[in-house]
Amino acid sequence: MSAALETSLWIGGGPAGGDGAAIPVENPFSEETIATVGSASGEQLDAAIAAARDAWPAWGTMPAGERCELLHECARRLRERQDALAEVLTREGGKPLIENRDEIDWCAAAFDYYAEIGRDSAGRVIPPIESSQLALVVKDPLGVVGCIVPWNYPLLLLTWKVAPALAAGNTIVAKPSEITPLATLALGPLFDHLPAGVFNVIAGAGETGAALTADERVDCIAFTGSVATGTRVAVACAERTARVNLEMGGKDPFIVCADIDSAEQIEIAARGGAWAAFLNAGQVCTSAERFYVNERVYDDYVNAFAAHTKTLVLGDPMEPGTDLGPMVSAPQREKVVAQVEAALAAGAERLTGGGSGPGQGHFYEPAVITGAPAETDLLREETFGPVAPIVPVKGLDEAIALANGTRFGLGANVYTGDLKTAVRCMRELRAGTVWINDPLTDNDAGPFGGFKQSGLGRELGREGLEAFQETKHVHMETEIEKKEWWYPYSEYSASGD
Ligand code: NAD
Repeated sequence: MSAALETSLWIGGGPAGGDGAAIPVENPFSEETIATVGSASGEQLDAAIAAARDAWPAWGTMPAGERCELLHECARRLRERQDALAEVLTREGGKPLIENRDEIDWCAAAFDYYAEIGRDSAGRVIPPIESSQLALVVKDPLGVVGCIVPWNYPLLLLTWKVAPALAAGNTIVAKPSEITPLATLALGPLFDHLPAGVFNVIAGAGETGAALTADERVDCIAFTGSVATGTRVAVACAERTARVNLEMGGKDPFIVCADIDSAEQIEIAARGGAWAAFLNAGQVCTSAERFYVNERVYDDYVNAFAAHTKTLVLGDPMEPGTDLGPMVSAPQREKVVAQVEAALAAGAERLTGGGSGPGQGHFYEPAVITGAPAETDLLREETFGPVAPIVPVKGLDEAIALANGTRFGLGANVYTGDLKTAVRCMRELRAGTVWINDPLTDNDAGPFGGFKQSGLGRELGREGLEAFQETKHVHMETEIEKKEWWYPYSEYSASGD
């Protein structure tokens, strides 16, 4: 595949130009429109859902070993086209090329993982009520899964839905973000080895996502995005009792404990913190957005953090030495500016960052903020930008209380070398992932998702497969005989049982 920008939808195993509203796609570094994608019209959305429904019976009953081979082929094709796909992701999203190459690696690994666990189990055998019986818990596919994803990791967040859903025997209608549709549209032709209709890609904005969510023929919506949109999706699914899996926003805490007190450890925890806060310009659902640092090491930590932040290189995301690219869009940058300015107006201090960088593109220089009052949005609401507010705490009780004191619960980070502290944090932090001394590392086998308003359900791991399975209890009697507890009750009571 060349790096040509794909703009066709993929419906029923073939390309289709979108007949709906035109979506301009901007390169956030050059600020130029690099492609115009036609959204799916109502008829095209209908055709994509119909294709997925038609393809489902054969795909759902295909021997798992055969599906496994087709999923491994998805992984092979992703690796073969890694360079071209990473380039498209960089041009539409602004994330540095090195991070987008990683994204493709992670997608391929997730396809391989689900190819294997998808053929490993189809349920379990449970003890029957009587010895002449067989009792089974059978895992069935759900049917058609609608996948709706945001712009920050367009292919990875889609893969975390598509790979397990396909492995479990479901068919797909995928809708990328209107901000970054291009790499996802490239997947249609890339996965043309899948039977027609198994994997469909449509483009469109919120109305298209809402229409997909409302369609009775779609059995499950797997959604990643903001709490506001996810809540709308949940309500729409509840109205028709459709399955829903929600991965939503976060406000992840990052705790640095008093035992991190040598110059070397402080430097490591500062660099780990900066990476956790600024990766993908802070546009990661698990970005570290609140730093709670023990007062005994606070000054040294803040100094090390600010000094390291000043060394980070902003620039063309296609260039190898770039640490941070632009933010994805002007409105996204404006939200970050507003949140930081409000904190500064309330008395916070900016130690570094906050400028607009190289002068072209939606850059926000990574910022380190101290003294932000606890009630400011900067410490309460998702920022989704390269900003690290650092707060001193007296001890672990205060750090854990502050960490848990939000409506979010996606991830949490801790730096400590003390075993008791690590175990206490593991037990008490109310978050779907707790990272100790290694921020933000995902594991295909480790379930990912949120407590509280950060989400409902899990992706990855076995839980990520089960999210796309329906559970059936099969109770089988091998003897054809009348049971003694049937009518007439006069005989039953007479038996004295
Ligand atoms: P968003 O909620 O605005 O959009 C997400 C997707 O939903 C897009 O494809 C959009 O077109 C679609 N959509 C919009 N309105 C819809 C509706 N009414 N019905 C159905 N679909 C609709 O989010 P965004 O700005 O694209 O992404 C940023 C958000 O995503 C942040 O809040 C971030 O925390 C979250 N996120 C969460 C995770 C996670 O795994 N928990 C991962 C990445 C991003």
